[in-house]
Amino acid sequence: MTAITLRQIRKTYSSLQVIHDIDIAIASGEFLVLVGPSGCGKSTLLRMIAGLEEISGGILEIGGKVVNALPPSDRDIAMVFQDYALYPHMSVRENMAFGLKMRGTAEDTIDRRVSHAADILKIQPFLDRRPAQLSGGQRQRVAMGRAIVREPSAFLFDEPLSNLDAALRVEMRLEIAKLHNRMKATTVYVTHDQVEAMTLADRIVVLNAGRIEQIGQPLDLYHRPASLFVARFIGSPT
Ligand code: ADP
Ligand code: MG
Repeated sequence: MTAITLRQIRKTYSSLQVIHDIDIAIASGEFLVLVGPSGCGKSTLLRMIAGLEEISGGILEIGGKVVNALPPSDRDIAMVFQDYALYPHMSVRENMAFGLKMRGTAEDTIDRRVSHAADILKIQPFLDRRPAQLSGGQRQRVAMGRAIVREPSAFLFDEPLSNLDAALRVEMRLEIAKLHNRMKATTVYVTHDQVEAMTLADRIVVLNAGRIEQIGQPLDLYHRPASLFVARFIGSPT
């Protein structure tokens, strides 16, 4: 089953076109990774899926429904940002509960979901702390927890690990892989780290200046890169 469909998706900032007629069908439960050099349009594409950026042309479907005109809150997806975007004045628990509260979710449901997500992410001991009292890795877990409690049909990640040091990056990458194996939620994951792409992805999309250079399974791209550009990005022997 297809979870998210992009048909001829385009993005123009004033006269500058940064995304050119992108077609992708993302399967339900698929872990799709977007890679490409800085400025190639990864964040823009992700933000259009999230509803944080207006779509200039084309059709975006989530769960079989056209969502072009729907606000983020009506798209049944949750986004995890690189800078965590946590509320500094709220505790971890409040950060995780906030989105659900805004939607009027019942208190006991909120408590149950927060507690469950905190268990999965091993952040139970920090629930009453403020973000400033946490390490980078712990903050990233909270940001993921905030997405999980919404129980969305899909998760969007924009370079979630790029602010972490190398050791933590490895740990969190394994954590995200475990989480995906457990939840099997549709995921679109932006990174410029080829190890993350190769190990996490069911399929990788290589973007080049707003166009798809190649799309395929990690080993396909590795062994049969369509261009030198892809080979360089994936780290294929050339
Ligand atoms: P990536 O995430 O791959 O680094 P982005 O999606 O952030 O790339 O940016 C793609 C292109 O769109 C870049 O050329 C960037 O300068 C441009 N861009 C991004 N956001 C805006 C904006 N709000 N206004 C104008 N240009 C933008
Ligand atoms: Mg970006």
